[in-house]
Order: sequence, then structure tokens, then C-alpha cells
Amino acid sequence: MSESAAGTLDLRGTNLHCGRCGYDLGPAAAGWKNRALVRERPMAGAGGAPYSSGAHVLLRTFLCPSCGRQLAAETAMKDAPFLDDRLHTGSAGGGP
Ligand SMILES: [Zn+2]
Repeated sequence: MSESAAGTLDLRGTNLHCGRCGYDLGPAAAGWKNRALVRERPMAGAGGAPYSSGAHVLLRTFLCPSCGRQLAAETAMKDAPFLDDRLHTGSAGGGP
């Protein structure tokens, strides 16, 4: 039995897995993005001409290391830490 976050990540027990190939991304409460492939590029031009931010604003995409599926995306300033996304469920433990 698994729980899904938009069909992209599956929670199996306490670990998150790729929703396509099942790659184990580690404990849901421990920063799964560190186990994903990360691609960064400047936001300037990332979505076409309307996106004209400076080169210091990045679009980060997090990909499954096994199948390459995009698991998440975020915007960030250069050298800023990853957004700490956490999936809270009744079975995963952890606090609010
Ligand atoms: Zn995968």
C-alpha cells in the first residue's frame, strides 16, 4: 500500500519513492531532494520572454536518478539551500 503526492512521489513505509520507477529517495523526513539529481538554470528566459529576472534567480528541477522523471521544481536565489519539502501523513510520523 502506498500514498501518493500528485502521483510523482510515493510514500512506502517511511521512505519516498519515484512515482514512475520506484527509485528509493530515502526517508520522507530527511530531505529527499539531496538524493535526487538537480538541474539549475537562470530563470531569465526559462519560460520565454515574459521571464526577465536577473541571472541570480534560478529555476531548479529535481529529477529521479533512475528514470529522469521530474519530481519537483522551485525557484531560488543562487547558492540558497533547497526548499525543505516534507510530506506529512499519519503513518510517516514526525511533528507538524
Ligand atoms: Zn524514477
